[in-house]
Amino acid sequence: MSAILIDGKKIAEEIRAELTRKIATLAGRGVVPGLAVILVGDNPASVSYVTGKEKACAEIGIQSFETRFPEDVSEARLLDKIAECNRDPSVHGILIQLPLPGHIDERRVIGAIDPAKDVDGFTPINLGRMLLEEPCYVPCTPLGIIEMLTRSDVPLNGANAVVVGRSNIVGKPLANLLIRKSINATVTVCHTGTKDLASKVKAADIVIACAGRPGLVSADMIKPGACVIDVGVNRVPDATKKKGYRLCGDVDFDAIEKIAGWITPVPGGVGPMTITMLLSNTIDAALRISSGK
Ligand code: NAP
Repeated sequence: MSAILIDGKKIAEEIRAELTRKIATLAGRGVVPGLAVILVGDNPASVSYVTGKEKACAEIGIQSFETRFPEDVSEARLLDKIAECNRDPSVHGILIQLPLPGHIDERRVIGAIDPAKDVDGFTPINLGRMLLEEPCYVPCTPLGIIEMLTRSDVPLNGANAVVVGRSNIVGKPLANLLIRKSINATVTVCHTGTKDLASKVKAADIVIACAGRPGLVSADMIKPGACVIDVGVNRVPDATKKKGYRLCGDVDFDAIEKIAGWITPVPGGVGPMTITMLLSNTIDAALRISSGK
């Protein structure tokens, strides 16, 4: 048996094609959606993520406004920039590329974003609204994973889902979305304090690995026919590559592909969906703001 490959790139393209209709509605109102992108320092992974997001924005017709700050920028300067973006009518979404340097209080900086422009869905207001199932911006990676699962017809109602990782941006919001009545999965969340991870994963119909640990999920942990979503993006040294590394996820793709029912690749799985949900949230923000809602 060989798993159905959930092609994140292809699903992302379908969604982007759907989004062009919303862009046309905005054009009818004379509005070009705008995303402010704030980058601190020159961490290669962050620079590459920001470049990818800006390229996707340009392709679909979202204007991006990038501000780069040096690694030693003060928190006050960052807060000033956010206040400026909150006021700017051409900015509908604000993205702060994480992580921020240690001297900056990440929570205070994120909390300063106007929730109406918080297209990453990281502010306490949006996370609270998500929990209450009120209209809000949902974090892009969990939102993209739900889109992937539903568009691939993976059975979710009553499924046992195991989420490996409990970060505020991936694991926690994802677990929360999966237990919504409209999705109806039964969720177990694992972390570094979990005893016997293997037995928890083995019981799952859906495994979502978001730990950032290459090789954490091996084939012997997977129930035959399960759906395996690999969120991890890890740089593993590889002398045969020009860059000196290769990207891999948290699961042993080659072995698991032979027994799972569905699987996502890395790269080309969750990554393109995350970017597409950022585009979607930014376009929705422009629609809401321009309609005065
Ligand atoms: P994070 O903040 O470092 O959180 C990792 C989580 O995994 C933590 O809750 C941690 O547990 C848990 N964990 C780590 N090692 C574990 C182990 N051995 N057993 C069980 N649980 C373990 O990471 P993140 O920001 O959520 O990102 C996770 C991964 O997804 C990274 O590789 C990141 O690059 C990737 N990512 C990809 C996308 C995409 O679009 N493809 C988007 C976001 C993130 P504790 O809480 O106990 O420490």
